[in-house]
Amino acid sequence: MEPQYDAVVVGAGFGGMGAAIQLKRLGLDNLLILDREDGLGGTWHVNRYPGLAVDIASVTYSYSFEPNPYWSRLFAPGEELKKYAEHVADKYDLRRHMRFGAVVQGARWDEGNQWWEVAVAGLAEPVTGRYLLTATGFLSQPKMPDIEGIDTFAGTVIHTTDWDASYNPAGRRIGVIGTGATAVQLIPEMARTAAELTVYQRTPIWVVPKVDFRIPKSVQALFAGLPVTQRAARYVNTTLLEVLMVGGVLHYRQLRAFNLGATALAKAHLRMQVRNKETRRKLTPGYSFGCKRPTFSNTFFKAFNEPNVHLETTSIARVEADGIVTADGNKTPIDTLLLATGFDLWQANFPAIEIIGRGGRNLGQWWRDNVFQAYEGVAVPKFPNFISLNSPYSYSGLSYFLTIESQMKHMHRLFGEMRRRGATTFEVTAEANAQFLERMSNRLGDTVFHAGSCSTARSYYFDPHGRATLLRPTSTVDAFRDAENFPVTDYSYA
Ligand code: NAP
Repeated sequence: MEPQYDAVVVGAGFGGMGAAIQLKRLGLDNLLILDREDGLGGTWHVNRYPGLAVDIASVTYSYSFEPNPYWSRLFAPGEELKKYAEHVADKYDLRRHMRFGAVVQGARWDEGNQWWEVAVAGLAEPVTGRYLLTATGFLSQPKMPDIEGIDTFAGTVIHTTDWDASYNPAGRRIGVIGTGATAVQLIPEMARTAAELTVYQRTPIWVVPKVDFRIPKSVQALFAGLPVTQRAARYVNTTLLEVLMVGGVLHYRQLRAFNLGATALAKAHLRMQVRNKETRRKLTPGYSFGCKRPTFSNTFFKAFNEPNVHLETTSIARVEADGIVTADGNKTPIDTLLLATGFDLWQANFPAIEIIGRGGRNLGQWWRDNVFQAYEGVAVPKFPNFISLNSPYSYSGLSYFLTIESQMKHMHRLFGEMRRRGATTFEVTAEANAQFLERMSNRLGDTVFHAGSCSTARSYYFDPHGRATLLRPTSTVDAFRDAENFPVTDYSYA
């Protein structure tokens, strides 16, 4: 008996599309790509809030094998990423494999048949696939703050992942909860026309200047006509990001000066942009640069000079029907509550769907009961024929596309070896997984996460066990080298 599909891919964002492109290159064309949303593009389909843009330059934040010469700016706005995703789906013939509004409820390894059963809401029977690839994203489960009385608020409530296009901030009294990368983009947009805008900050964020500009048509034409020029721009930018990541974050213990340089730059930026000394003090983080995802903006800090923008750092006690009450008893009347409260990465929602492997092993439970781990950030013992693209140690470098492409290379080597052996089943060995975990664990000690001062950062880089296992603590050069050369005997085949 054969399964219905060669592979089931969960997620139609850039990760899932990259995996599907790789599978097709490997000759697996009977694919099913499931996504709970009503369109493709993942985060770039869901997020539509004003101010949305990439914060990794677009020459790097795109597939290296599918450059787009027509980015309008160095940091392209969100809708251009959505358009790029549509273009990729068409060019690589992915659309016919996609099913939208398909909520995956769980997946179970069928030992007898040696395939995956994937339960989809509304379908009486699970779909079956020889391989299962999950690309559900890290930043995909919106976090709703657990604040007393929030359900009693009588005005407009919008989470940034569920933006209401008809909402007009002009003349409104707005409360924004959160000061992460999303809020940093949203706040200046709201501040322009809101009557009053109160920003509720729990933890400040490090912000550095954004060197952004329009890409002139002549340069776009050059990129289109002579692609090597865009490849050169990508190479320079990617190298710069790599130096920042390796020097400032991963080798913090050895190269602290890099990190201190970034801290000094962010502090100088704040000094130049915010007039009031007390406001500057409140906006200055008390943890090392890099503990929490820093961001780029030329407009966020400046917004706090405006008379209609207020920074509130006293914690929120409760929300009432018409306002927010802080712990000091003060109440700020608002008619709109904007939740820029981010995502739930690690708790019950990790991984995003329940995955049951060989012998009934529950992936999320096993991770929570043990150490968060995944061989090369993609494979887990007792989970045959399963590639988990959003795993501990999977995220490599600053651009998500570097992660995706190194994972595509890993798939190329793994599936190539299976073909060579005439096998259809793979499983990473427990020994290879343990060795990889030990190597990553040893490296964590050098990073800013463990050698710096991160205790007040409240950073999603840390898992529920307090270890910074989200990012792979090596250079992307190392990640690519491993993806192309890992010992094929790290897997067993059948
Ligand atoms: P985030 O970084 O997790 O920020 C969430 C914010 O909400 C934090 O300031 C958090 O405070 C606050 N918050 C959450 N619950 C709260 C509560 N109960 N009470 C008070 N404050 C609360 O989420 P995000 O801003 O959506 O960004 C997530 C990630 O998306 C970024 O790090 C970045 O990787 C990505 N992103 C990228 C871009 C881009 O340009 N490419 C744009 C936006 C986002 P604490 O810090 O105290 O928890």
